[in-house]
Amino acid sequence: MKRKQIVAGNWKMHMDYEAGRALVKAIIDRLQPSDTVVVVGPPYIHLKNISGIIKDVTNLKLAAQNCHQENSGAYTGEVSAPMLKSCEVDYVILGHSERREFFDEADSLIARKIDAVLAQGMKPIYCCGEKLEVREAGEHEALVGRQVSEALFHLDKGQIQNVVIAYEPVWAIGTGKTASPEQAQEMHHHIRSLIRQQFGDTVADGISILYGGSVKPGNAKEIFGKPDVDGGLIGGAALKAEDFIAIVESI
Ligand code: PEP
Repeated sequence: MKRKQIVAGNWKMHMDYEAGRALVKAIIDRLQPSDTVVVVGPPYIHLKNISGIIKDVTNLKLAAQNCHQENSGAYTGEVSAPMLKSCEVDYVILGHSERREFFDEADSLIARKIDAVLAQGMKPIYCCGEKLEVREAGEHEALVGRQVSEALFHLDKGQIQNVVIAYEPVWAIGTGKTASPEQAQEMHHHIRSLIRQQFGDTVADGISILYGGSVKPGNAKEIFGKPDVDGGLIGGAALKAEDFIAIVESI
């Protein structure tokens, strides 16, 4: 079965208003039509503007980097899923390791955010992955299995089909260290097997599992060439249009 191939850029807390506009325009200038879904994930301040800039570019979609689990309320500084929907957001990155680490997000909370995003007809990009000490202890498959089950196994088959999973080993994010293509394949296969046990073959064969962690133009092709890797979530290299497009073209 042909799965959706996705390359999503996570801009994190980079790019002021003008720099963000320039980056998305530079991406559009270089983007060739293809079946790959290309996603830009800017900070909130860009969303409405970029949704206007990309609206006629068919394979370019918009992601937010987080949202609150409630639809509205007295939560100063937060942004809800209906607000993102009103800015024509397509995807929401949830459970990124930086949210887990610096904002204490646990899978029970992330599960509620996933529900909020799905209820608005948007697609969560659910990030999971182990820290170095967990891998060194040989516990990485068990830990990622727990993350996946705690955040996703309450969903029904209709809902899970709108979820994208991103495996991002924490030790590879922003460090210049990448998982080897074999390590990525092994974990992606493991995640897909868990999805298969819980939701069956159709869901497992259809769900896109992205790899994230120091993907660059020089290593993307080898990683994306593995059978269970359906694209990437890109941090640092998503901030330069040439590099991001070179990664997109590695698929
Ligand atoms: C990320 O933040 O999701 C990420 C993968 O970052 P980097 O590509 O910079 O490692």
